Amino acid sequence: DKMVELSEGNGQVSVEFEGEVPHPEIRKSGCHGFCEMGPLMRIEPLGILYIKVKVEDCEEIYEKTICQGQPIERLLYHKDGQVYQSEESIPFYAGQMRLVLKNCGHIDAENIEEYIAVGGYSALEKVLFDIDKDTALDMMEESGLRGRGGGGFPAGRKWKQVARQKETQRYVVCNGDEGDPGAFMDRSIMEGDPHKMLEGMLIGSYLTGAQNAYIYVRAEYPLAVERLQKAITQAEEHGLIGDNVLGTDFCIHFHINRGAGAFVCGEGSALTASIEGKRGMPRVKPPRTVEQGLFAKPTVLNNVETYANVPMIITNGVEWYRSIGTEGSPGTKAFALTGNVNNTGLIEVPMGTTLRTIIYDIGGGLKGGGKFKGVQIGGPSGGCLVEENLDVPLDFDQVKKYNAIIGSGGLVVMDESTCMVDVAKFFMGFTQRESCGKCGPCRIGTKRMLELLEKITDGKGEMEDLDKLEETAKFIQARSLCGLGKSAPLPVLSTLKNFRDEYIEHIVEGK
Ligand code: SF4
Repeated sequence: DKMVELSEGNGQVSVEFEGEVPHPEIRKSGCHGFCEMGPLMRIEPLGILYIKVKVEDCEEIYEKTICQGQPIERLLYHKDGQVYQSEESIPFYAGQMRLVLKNCGHIDAENIEEYIAVGGYSALEKVLFDIDKDTALDMMEESGLRGRGGGGFPAGRKWKQVARQKETQRYVVCNGDEGDPGAFMDRSIMEGDPHKMLEGMLIGSYLTGAQNAYIYVRAEYPLAVERLQKAITQAEEHGLIGDNVLGTDFCIHFHINRGAGAFVCGEGSALTASIEGKRGMPRVKPPRTVEQGLFAKPTVLNNVETYANVPMIITNGVEWYRSIGTEGSPGTKAFALTGNVNNTGLIEVPMGTTLRTIIYDIGGGLKGGGKFKGVQIGGPSGGCLVEENLDVPLDFDQVKKYNAIIGSGGLVVMDESTCMVDVAKFFMGFTQRESCGKCGPCRIGTKRMLELLEKITDGKGEMEDLDKLEETAKFIQARSLCGLGKSAPLPVLSTLKNFRDEYIEHIVEGK
């Protein structure tokens, strides 16, 4: 009657338990989020969480914990002389509010019955049978849910705009491209709880009158593709996807498209072009995606985390949802916490949580007791927040005031040993390579900025190069066609603002 829940990628450990009699039930439950301490293993119903489990530990785990119910102290999480037995008590988890990620690491992602057992698909039933479409659309708008893919556009307003279009052929699209270096929030949802996202898409499709739903996933996420495919098949078998969903006149079909690794395909119009089989390049707007998106038809386009928020809004109501987070950005946000921080991993906190709480309480402070220097937020399109920003509440609007964006939720923590000019060069190199080349300001401008940064880090920079960097940055921001170009200079601008002395040091010292 014991069950072992393993974080993803622990095949060898799982094989070690195969021959044991009595055989514990083994579940590969997806990512638990605490990457720094992986591989993780939870023994239920004892609620014991083991960290950094090795194949050699399996025999002892089997004999002591599974057969006798005894915890093995050496495998438990320790901090400041305290031993933590359960996942919930560990400071990394205790400081979080895991709503979107609630099921990740707790249910078998490949079994629809487990999702249903924790209340899954009841929100779909509610919109199909208990409330009318207008009420549900109002709920979505009043909830204040904003797109978690980067832009922060109100999702409910987008859905209403699509529902109002004269054209009756409509699409719902999920952006699972997640191209930011260091970001893996959407991946964990798709791998760990694919049905939650499907349910959100199903509700979106029903409310906006879409007949086909597309999921665009990075090809670099093969497990996500496999799990989504299984989830779709199971939902079809349960009458939740297909013709006449649960006996109603709602008909919906799901399709998975694999992206070929282009960062620009995270941009809405490039993404829909890629699904259509064209080269993934952004186009001039208007028309907007809600009017003419996929196949030039009205389209709802949101990312994975946004859809995963939908079922709980429908189930728990607007008031509950708005009680979490901030006035302008309700709900939670998942962040990938990486870099020079002790507890790297996937976290979820209410919007408005400060960087200080994230880095010091949840992240356990800087590695090796280092001094905090800055955090790159929002990936290559984002900016750098510094020590004086540690108490800024992180939400869509606050972060913008500091030349940064929440983006999809990448947080790369840096200590004082990090050269900020190198950081800016890394991100500029990334966006320069990923520029699709359609418009000159981005294609040529990012190349010029990268050349200037290389000149400076090669020790050949001149003071006037700093002005050239700023001029070019402003030109690219103002004239680029899409968000990739418009935001590409942000890492350089924010490091120039906060760490100008480091640029000058490279120039003066010629290093
Ligand atoms: Fe392509 Fe850059 Fe222009 Fe966007 S801004 S369309 S990525 S060249």
